[in-house]
Amino acid sequence: MHMDYELQALLRNSGLDQAEITTRLNFLDWSQADDRCLQAARVDFSEAHQHFVDRLYQHLGQFNGPAALLQDATVTARLKHSQLSYYERLWQGPRDLDYVRDRLRVGLVHDQVGLELKWYLGGYRLYLDSLLQNLFGTQPASALYASVLKAVFFDMTLTIDAYNSAQRRALENSEARYARALRGANDGLWDWHVEHDHLYLSERWSSMLGLNRDQLGEGKAGWFARVHSEDLPGLRHAIQQHLSGLSDSLHHQYRIRHREGHYLWVLVRGVVSRDERGEQRLAGSQSDISGQKNTEQHLKHTARHDPLTGLGNRLRLQELLEQAQQRQQRPGARGAALLFIDLDRFKLINDSLGHAVGDQVLIEMTRRLGKCLRPGDHLIRFGGDEFVVLLDDLACVDDAEYVAQRMLDDVLKPLWVAERQLSVSASIGIVDLTEAHIDGDVLRAADLAMYRAKDAGKARFARYSAELNVRAEQRLQLESALALAKDEFELYYQPVCCLDDGHAQVTGVEALLRWRHNGRLISPQEFIPALEESRQIIAVGDWVLLQACLQSKRWQAVQPGLNCAVNLSSRQLCEAQFAQRVTQILAFTGLPASSLILEITESQLMEDSAQTLACLRELASLGVRLALDDFGTGYSSLGYLTRFPLHILKVDKSFIIGVEDGGELSTISRAIIKLGQGLNFEVIAEGVEQASHLDFLRAQGCRYAQGYLLSCPQPVSVLDQLFQQQPVCLHKTSAVAAHNYCPQ
Ligand code: C2E
Ligand code: MG
Ligand code: MG
Repeated sequence: MHMDYELQALLRNSGLDQAEITTRLNFLDWSQADDRCLQAARVDFSEAHQHFVDRLYQHLGQFNGPAALLQDATVTARLKHSQLSYYERLWQGPRDLDYVRDRLRVGLVHDQVGLELKWYLGGYRLYLDSLLQNLFGTQPASALYASVLKAVFFDMTLTIDAYNSAQRRALENSEARYARALRGANDGLWDWHVEHDHLYLSERWSSMLGLNRDQLGEGKAGWFARVHSEDLPGLRHAIQQHLSGLSDSLHHQYRIRHREGHYLWVLVRGVVSRDERGEQRLAGSQSDISGQKNTEQHLKHTARHDPLTGLGNRLRLQELLEQAQQRQQRPGARGAALLFIDLDRFKLINDSLGHAVGDQVLIEMTRRLGKCLRPGDHLIRFGGDEFVVLLDDLACVDDAEYVAQRMLDDVLKPLWVAERQLSVSASIGIVDLTEAHIDGDVLRAADLAMYRAKDAGKARFARYSAELNVRAEQRLQLESALALAKDEFELYYQPVCCLDDGHAQVTGVEALLRWRHNGRLISPQEFIPALEESRQIIAVGDWVLLQACLQSKRWQAVQPGLNCAVNLSSRQLCEAQFAQRVTQILAFTGLPASSLILEITESQLMEDSAQTLACLRELASLGVRLALDDFGTGYSSLGYLTRFPLHILKVDKSFIIGVEDGGELSTISRAIIKLGQGLNFEVIAEGVEQASHLDFLRAQGCRYAQGYLLSCPQPVSVLDQLFQQQPVCLHKTSAVAAHNYCPQ
């Protein structure tokens, strides 16, 4: 069986196919006449062959090498017999693939039993010599020919030695190179014969573990026994995946035990191949990656921990929450709760006593809060003076209240910092994680509960309940609705510039709503959803439109033709009387319809109601222009661009901000600008923050831009001053920059 594989390999390596056989015979001038000649004389020579075989074995017996192989008489008799059959076949032919295979097989057998090539070849010389005598007797010419034969055969053995040695040297060189490369790579090598479970491990593989090769045995058991028990299933799985063809290669990190008991992190790599027998061999390398792993773990730890208190941070909380929520899904899970802790009036300490004292207070609070926890609970620094506690494995969620109370008591104890006695308190919101309806927004729920505790007078805890959520939303809606009545709304205006002739000349403004609430300027993104929810946006939008038209009309006195853009909500567009209301406002303020631009977003168009379309057509017929805002962020269906009566495309800031990189985003921006130009829209780029953005837009022939580089949204008073100039050109060093309100 084994011989067959050897033979297959030999045939493959030597390229001995039918074509090669024919070439070789042609080189020897072999012809059919040779076949015929030998076949005709075969029988006549059978006796001579018989004698020759005896003579051959006698001759071989005189030399130590072959003599050693011919000690057993029965073996010798068998060999003689097959030698005779060989001569028969040599004369009979045919010299086909089968013949070649037979010769190669005999050669392999001789090599295996240890008969050196020189004896084998010498036998042929003897054979030719005996034929010579048979055919020509002892003439002087045949004596001469016999001498030549000897000389030639001697040389043939030398030539074969020379070829063999060169091949061996090439092999040795490549092995030496391989060995040097391996020493340099510092990796261990392994080669595992899967079916026979025979594992070869290199010296380096075992020395990495402080062991000798023979201490690891010859099968996978010695290897696997040293793998960390937590990592063994993963390693087996990775190997199995690869052996069954589900992965391209084996590439797996795991821990393995060193002789001294500690574990190393290693990376094992390998690929499977099949040998001539079709059996699987998995071979590859193994590197020690402990150093790299330690750095990685250190970085991972740093990214997940707060340097001041050493507590986990938000990122860590996220992981812990996910794990806790997964545990909650399992049957029989125990209670769990999340506590949101905020120190009361901490800002006062920070502002009046300085950050160093603030830091000390935080460190002390960390210690006190931590003392109230059991192993398995987690304390996280959420931000500034906010902490989160995750209580796992509670017998009942009421226990969370005991923990919260203990924390409140401990926090309240007097605290000495910088020779001063301070008193600190905290408010705590509690959420029961087993309550299904919270749906992932646990932190928001805990935060709401914490605010409830603050509202109720601070230094206490409150539990989250669903009504709390509803109440919070209602409050926001109510408060924002009241804002109008309380004059808390205000309009800011952001200049829009025309980029023609290398200038950035202001040609219009966009009105942007602000809410000044409790001393804070709140961004529209925070409160517009609540206004929309309660439909208050209709009244507020009406107010915005009126204010913006009044203001623009006033500015037109010094800036003739100044445009004004106003953002619309979809609720406004759905109002049956909306176009009529716009007509009234234009008439009332005296602003020409052509100076007003109404901005709508793609999502508004997506609703695609007949009402929206009718309303937009009516507005367009008044002479008001319509802009598609934030273009590119929604569905960007090209259908809208032709179906609706639009005049202006506003390329969303996310595209413009990305053009610096020159990557995908600049390609998209370029395409959007071209698209708008191709359809005869005015194109306005939003979010121009850098000079390079302007260069890009100019190169694309985009004529209009707005963004922080030119000017942030500004209150009326700042623009009043700016509009004194004629014409108004902006760049980033403009005086306006000094008054910037930049909402980042
Ligand atoms: P928008 O209509 O796309 O307005 C542009 C937003 O981009 C504004 O944010 C503006 O301050 C900001 N912005 C301007 N230049 C830059 C820049 O260079 N870089 C960056 N990163 N941002 C820049 P704002 O004022 O917070 O408004 C946000 C959104 O709220 C507006 O987006 C608009 O959709 C909506 N909104 C604002 N006012 C009103 C209003 O009166 N009614 C309605 N329905 N929506 C409004
Ligand atoms: Mg807008
Ligand atoms: Mg926009």
